[in-house]
Amino acid sequence: MIDLLKKLIIHKSDIPTGANEALQFCANWLEQQGIEVNLHQNNGLDILTAEIGQGADCLIWNGHVDVVPAAIEQYTPFVDGDLLFGRGAADMKAGVAAMMFSFVELSKSSDKLPRRLQLHLVTDEETGGENTSGWLVRNGYNGQFVICGEPTQLQIGLQAKGILQFEIQFKGKASHGSRPWEGLNAVLQAMHFHSKLLESPITNAHNTFYDSPSINLATIQAGERFNVVPDQCNVRYDIRYVPGQSAEVILHDIQKILDEEKIQAEIIIHSIAPAVTTSADDPFVLSLLKTTAAICDKQATLFGQHGSADTRFYAADGVGAIEFGPTGADWHGPAEYVSISSVYRYANIIKAHVLS
Ligand SMILES: [Zn+2]
Repeated sequence: MIDLLKKLIIHKSDIPTGANEALQFCANWLEQQGIEVNLHQNNGLDILTAEIGQGADCLIWNGHVDVVPAAIEQYTPFVDGDLLFGRGAADMKAGVAAMMFSFVELSKSSDKLPRRLQLHLVTDEETGGENTSGWLVRNGYNGQFVICGEPTQLQIGLQAKGILQFEIQFKGKASHGSRPWEGLNAVLQAMHFHSKLLESPITNAHNTFYDSPSINLATIQAGERFNVVPDQCNVRYDIRYVPGQSAEVILHDIQKILDEEKIQAEIIIHSIAPAVTTSADDPFVLSLLKTTAAICDKQATLFGQHGSADTRFYAADGVGAIEFGPTGADWHGPAEYVSISSVYRYANIIKAHVLS
C-alpha cells in the first residue's frame, strides 16, 4: 500500500494533464487487480468509478488525486521513520491508496458485502470539484453515505462551513485631493461598512462545532492617484458560514447595513455553496465511531471543518457525507507528510466499516 502511495506521489498531478495521468495510473492498477473500472470525462478531466457488493444501500469512498503545486523535490517521496513526505502524501493520496487497496481486498469476497461500495476517484478537488465530484453527483452517482478521505488525523469531519463569496462595489464621488469634503471617499465607505459588518449579528452565529463564521476580506481595488478622492472601491469577501446560517439571510443583512448606513453600493454574488450538516446520529457515523474505537482503542472526535471539500456535492443531495482520513501535517505546505502507521490503521477501519 505504501509502495502504491509513493507511485501516486511521483505523478505530478498539480495540473489537469498530470491529474488525468495519475487517474489513468489508478485505473490500470485497479484493472490489474481484477477490478472493473468505468472512466468518465468532463471538461477535459478524467473521473473513475467502480462498484462491488450488492443490495439497495450504497456506501461511497471518494478520493482526489490532484494536488496543489509544490517545489519539484516534493514529488520525490521519502520516508523518515513513520513519516512519508511528499506533495499529496496527506492531501490526499494516502487516503486514495488506502481506499484502492481496501477496495481490492473487499472485492475478493464481494458476495459477502452487506451493501454496495462505490469508489469515486476524481481530479479537480483542489480547484473547486465542480467538474468531477460535482459532475458525478449531477449524474446520479450518490448513495446513502460518503467518506471523503481527506486528512483528518483519523477523526471525523462531520460538518463543513458553507461558502458565500461576493463583491461589493462601493460608489462615492470624486473630488480634488486637497478638498476631500467636496467628494465622497468610496474607500472610507468600504471601511465603515466593514466595521459595521464585524459588529453585526452575522458574526455571532455558532453551533456545537463552530464559535463563529469565517469572514475574510480578500481583495480591495480602489484609487489611482494621490490628489483624487476615489469614487469607486470594489471589495471582495469570502464568508464561510456556520451550518444553520443561510447565505440568503446573510446577504439580506448585508443589504440592511448598507441601507441603514446610507452607503451606496452594489452587491455582486460570485458563488454560494451549502454547508455540510451530516448528523452525529447518522447510522453510518455511529458504526464508524464503533469501528474506529475498536481499531484505535479510543473514540474518534467529531468536528467541523472550516474549509470545504467534495463532501458538499454529495451533502447537497441530503446524503450523509464526512471527511475522514489518515494522520498527517503541512498539507499545501513545503513539508507535507503522512504517518505510515495511520494509513494502515485507516485502511483497516474503512474495510471494517463497510462490513459492519
Ligand atoms: Zn484534499
